[in-house]
Amino acid sequence: MENNLFTRKKTLLIVDDEEINRDILAFNLGNHFNIVEAGDGKEALDILLNDKHKIDLVITDVNMPFSGLEVLKVRQNNPKLKAIPFVMATTELHTEEECFKLGVNDFLRKPFPTGREMDFFIARINRLMELYEDRSILKEVEREKLTNLYNNEFFIKYSEEFDELYPDMAKDMLTITINRFRLINELYGREFGDEVLLTITRFLNNYTSNNYGLAGRNAGSTFVMYCEHRDNYNDFAEQLIDGLHHMTNGLGISVRIGVYPNVSSNLDKEIVIGRTKNAADTLRKDYSKTIAIYNEAAQAITLHMEELVDAFPQALEEEQFQLFFQPKYNVQGDKPVFASAEVLIRWISPKFGFVSPGDFIHLFEEHGLISKLDSYILKKAAELMSLWKKKYGIDIPLSINLSRVDIYRPNLVEDIIEYVDSNNVPHECFYIEITESAFVEDAKEVLPFIGRIRSNGFMVEIDDFGSGYSSFGALADLPFDVLKIDMQFIRSMNKNPKVKDIIKMIISLAKMMDSITVAEGVETEDQYLFLKEHGCDVIQGYYFSKPLSLGDFEELIKKDLVK
Ligand code: C2E
Ligand code: CA
Ligand code: CA
Repeated sequence: MENNLFTRKKTLLIVDDEEINRDILAFNLGNHFNIVEAGDGKEALDILLNDKHKIDLVITDVNMPFSGLEVLKVRQNNPKLKAIPFVMATTELHTEEECFKLGVNDFLRKPFPTGREMDFFIARINRLMELYEDRSILKEVEREKLTNLYNNEFFIKYSEEFDELYPDMAKDMLTITINRFRLINELYGREFGDEVLLTITRFLNNYTSNNYGLAGRNAGSTFVMYCEHRDNYNDFAEQLIDGLHHMTNGLGISVRIGVYPNVSSNLDKEIVIGRTKNAADTLRKDYSKTIAIYNEAAQAITLHMEELVDAFPQALEEEQFQLFFQPKYNVQGDKPVFASAEVLIRWISPKFGFVSPGDFIHLFEEHGLISKLDSYILKKAAELMSLWKKKYGIDIPLSINLSRVDIYRPNLVEDIIEYVDSNNVPHECFYIEITESAFVEDAKEVLPFIGRIRSNGFMVEIDDFGSGYSSFGALADLPFDVLKIDMQFIRSMNKNPKVKDIIKMIISLAKMMDSITVAEGVETEDQYLFLKEHGCDVIQGYYFSKPLSLGDFEELIKKDLVK
């Protein structure tokens, strides 16, 4: 591994096709510098462009199979090589002129000097390297401050040069993104976040030192790497995860890696990087997988997603989004009683058929469409509640899901009040569900919003509780009325006995805070009986009912609630 720039012994690259010449120089300079040797210009370029060694100065012969002049010509168009001083070892004057034109910094006359003359030469090249180091401060623009990796612009530039240099090599593009990085920063502090970034940086530097390739930092939590093709990146990923695991003492920080294999050099690098990200993003739903390989099918999914986004305005206008209702049952009495419901959206599209919310909510959030959809649902829900009151004479409380993105919308609270009041719906029958991770990740915005919602008499449910990272201790500081246990707990309670203890703990915590507990995703009698026995108040899930269409839901109301 490289040492710090300031304490490091400098490294010289000696290029000469005659071993005896290399030996003489290495003998004279080896006490002062690290020496790396190359037998011709091609080998020299390999070493220089590959980050294997950080070379501080090159001393090169002119006449070789791939000559020193040819190396200089490549250097003229390469910022990375330009940043390294070159000394030409020559015998003839006329080459000196030519070399100067090509930007050589100094000369070393052959046959090589000895004694004081060699000492002078050493002093000169030391000075030269100092000058260049000062100049390299300018290079900072190419590199990202924290990690010293290439920034996006230069990463792309150098990737293109990498193609030119190794036209026959098969290459892969990778993006490596830290999952939930914002949360890591928030929970453990920026310094810790930086350390995570640096751990990945060291790993990538090490990889590109031992393999052909280069690495960059693309954005906050995303790194890029362009490198010689390999069949798979399983070991790569495993070692990276191990490294992170080690550094964080097992906090379970994960990454998602997108790979675009065998990149054609004709393709725009930005597009290729975009595709690796799309591939990686398919893993968002499932943090247990680390690597996604770009392929046509994945790209087709991306295109389909774009189509869905394009179709949104018309779909909203034509009322293709339908409200479904999943009944909730109070279970603490003798018999379970249907008493309220959660609104779940369904998109029934003439073009795409049935589209599941799991496939479009996330997408609409990213494209800034979710607020429009949620407003529509809030309004419709209020209208239906008012309608039921007229038709059946009862108030049926409904829970509406809000996306975390909604919270950033100004006037959202005013709008909710307006929808609810214009339909004469009692505020305490109107429940807002917000997922737990939003409470933690967007705490600054969410908490005041919740405060205003509750001070207006509406109810707030923490959805998916236990899926996020808020510690149970932090619960005391969260404002809410209902705690909804994450479905994963219910699903795994029979597989892992500890999960049952966690569920019991969540229920008793909620009790301590005078809040109601809801369990969702309850599918079996076992689960139902366990939850009831341990004090869970409300149960929702296939055990009682799937989400129902408006027609079916009204049938249920008539059957169960209308006397
Ligand atoms: P969620 O809020 O956690 O909703 C619970 C999901 O569990 C629903 O999926 C529901 O159909 C499903 N579910 C209920 N009981 C069971 C069960 O017993 N077994 C199983 N396996 N699943 C059950 P759905 O309807 O596909 O919704 C998925 C997610 O989409 C919701 O998760 C919610 O985050 C989001 N979503 C749904 N409607 C809306 C909406 O109107 N606005 C926003 N912003 N998000 C919504
Ligand atoms: Ca929900
Ligand atoms: Ca949920």
